[in-house]
Order: sequence, then structure tokens, then C-alpha cells
Amino acid sequence: MSLNPQRTVAELKELRALTADENGAQRVAWTDTWLRAREWFAAKVKELPVEQHRDAAGNHWVTLAGASEKALLIGGHLDSVPNGGWLDGALDLLAGLEVLRRIASGFGGRPPVTVRLVDWADEEGARFGRSVLGSSAFAGTHSIAADRGRTDRDGVKLEDALRRCGVEIDQFPEARKERKNAAAYIELHIEQGPVLERMGLPLGVVLGTKGVERHIITFHGQEAHAGSTPMNARRDALAAAAKLALEIRSIAGKHEEAVCTMGSVKTFPGIATAVVGRCEATLDQRDLDAGVLAQMYREAQEASRRFAAEENCTVEWTRLWNIEPVPFHKDLLELCEQAVRETSGAAHRLPSGPLHDAAEVARAGIPSVMMFVQSLKGISHNKIEDTREEHLEMAVVALDRLASKTMEWILTQR
Ligand SMILES: [Zn+2]
Repeated sequence: MSLNPQRTVAELKELRALTADENGAQRVAWTDTWLRAREWFAAKVKELPVEQHRDAAGNHWVTLAGASEKALLIGGHLDSVPNGGWLDGALDLLAGLEVLRRIASGFGGRPPVTVRLVDWADEEGARFGRSVLGSSAFAGTHSIAADRGRTDRDGVKLEDALRRCGVEIDQFPEARKERKNAAAYIELHIEQGPVLERMGLPLGVVLGTKGVERHIITFHGQEAHAGSTPMNARRDALAAAAKLALEIRSIAGKHEEAVCTMGSVKTFPGIATAVVGRCEATLDQRDLDAGVLAQMYREAQEASRRFAAEENCTVEWTRLWNIEPVPFHKDLLELCEQAVRETSGAAHRLPSGPLHDAAEVARAGIPSVMMFVQSLKGISHNKIEDTREEHLEMAVVALDRLASKTMEWILTQR
């Protein structure tokens, strides 16, 4: 049996018919629709000469035993955001399934290395606000204490939602056992951004996932009457924040792939007739280079103090969240570039702004890499998310090439 990329597209449509409504994909993790998608996937897998089981965090593992116990892992996720797209996560897994079928039918049924396909549980964190849940349990980066008490919009606890699906959060550390013999990890994903489409390229090589520094910045000035306070006597907290909102463009602009976003600005008292006495803004900064990220963070702090002083205000910073950049493995980047070039003629390397399961796997010390396929209009997490069918088929071919190259690479590693 040879690789059949058209089958992947057909299966993606089958899954869409089973788990989407007029608003988009509804495969939110730990819901009945998600479980239905997983049953559908398990039935497909049954036709292959593989072992399958769920680990302690609910990740679904499909293992094709090879001559060597060293394993190539291929990952994806069936869960979606509410009203999501048909490709985010599902493409990764179903392309991986097609690659697994091809490998299972060759090598006299026994490939040189073991090949494992994994459906990560709850990549999106859509219901409980905790992304990459299953892969972080696998990586050992997950803190049970921090997540046990999380609730969804209806007040259902994370712990209870998991239990309903047969997963006990206290058992999460057991998922680390799946790391045994893992020699490399590969993942295909839609880009979810506009870069490849703008460059006219179907496929791209992902350098890594960007690190994030996310803060609340609060400027303190003085509330005062809008009618009686002369312009030169004001301590306007919004004015200081507004200067910073423009300054972050040049802070990010010095670096090719860096981004800075002031996504929320709240003013107090927030009425038409008062000078703003307090302004709370959020700043999200991302880059693949830890040094660049640290520099942007420092420059934003300095700029905020300068603007606060200019407006006769003060400023304080509170960290909301941060994560270090996760660069992918040098050798695997090279193999991914070869696979992309052989399939589509040109290869471009780009970082990923969104976080992915691959970053958690890489943090566990397993050599990892991701490949992107173009997203039309750069839109994702929405029902209009789409990719040309010929590009989807090319992505399956490129992933298959990457799998072959990585299997060979694994055999050269001690
Ligand atoms: Zn995804």
C-alpha cells in the first residue's frame, strides 16, 4: 500500500461531518463530541497491525513495533476550540495516520525503528484555559496543584471533567512513562498566520515556538475634573500608556520576527468628564530568541518609566505569564527543510507565534521539529479556517518524507 494523501483529505471531511455544526468544529476536549471523534479515530487505527492505549493523561498512543525499540513519534490533536476549524490539530493526526499506514505496509511489516502516533489530550485548553495539558503531563512540566481547581464557564471542575473521561489528574505523572525510547518527534500543523501565503509557499519549516513575556502595566496619575484642570497641570495616566502603545512598534521593529501587542487598556474612573487617574494596560511580547525577548522587555520597562515621568505619573509592572522560547532540533530542522524542498521546491524557515504540543515534547529533551502548511488568509480558530486541498496533499507527502528521513537519522544516533 502506498501513501494516499487524498484519503487524508477525505477523512478530514468525514471527521468534519461527524463533529462540526453550522458554526464550525465542536471537538472541545473532555466533551462528548471530542470522545466521539476519538472513537472514530480508534476505529480507523484498528485496521492496522498496532497496539493502542490511553496514557494516564488521556493521550492516545498508537504503536507500530519496529526492529529497534527507539521510537519516532508523530503527533497531533483531535480537540478543537468551540466553533473551530476543520484542520487545526486534526490534519496533524490524520496525516500522521496516513504515514503510519504507509510505513506499516512496507518493511515486511517491521520498520527499522518503532513508530508511534499520538493524539494529545486537550491541546487547546479551550474549556479550562490550560493549553497543552496532555503533552505537558508527558513532558513532566505540568503542575497538578496549579490546574486541579480550574473550572469551566458552568463551574465544572477540571478534575471532574477528566474523571468523566476516565482520567485521574493525580495519575498525570505516570504519563511520563511514554517518554521511554522516544528518539524524535515530528508534527505537521497549519500555519494559522499569513506568512506562507504571502510568500506564495505551500510549506514551511518551523524554527521553534516563540517565548512570551506577558505583563500588566499600571500607570498612576491623578484623577481631575476635565473642565477645570489646565492641560499643563494634568497627570494623565492614559497619555503615558498611549505613548507606550506606539513605542512598542519600534521596540519590536528592530527585530525581524519579534512582536509586541498592547491588547487591553482600561482607564479609571473611565468617564468622559475626568482626566484618567489610573490606566491598566497589558503587554504581550514574543520572540524566538531569549536575548531579544529579554531586551524587548527591558526596553519596554525603560520606555514606560520615561513616559510616566514625562506625564508626571508613576508606573508599576506585574507579570501575568511567561514561557521561554523553544527552538527545535538542528538536525531535524535540516531534515524538515529537505522534505519540504523535495516536495514543493522551496523551503522557508519561520518561527511559530502560537504554542504547540511539539514545544512541550522538545522541553522534555526529545529532538523535535514541526512543519507548517499554508493557511488561507492566515485565519484559524474559526470556521472559515482553510487550506487548499492540493496543499494539504503536499503536506502529507512532505510529512511522509520527513518521517523516512527521521527514521534513518534515529538509526545514526547512539
Ligand atoms: Zn493545533
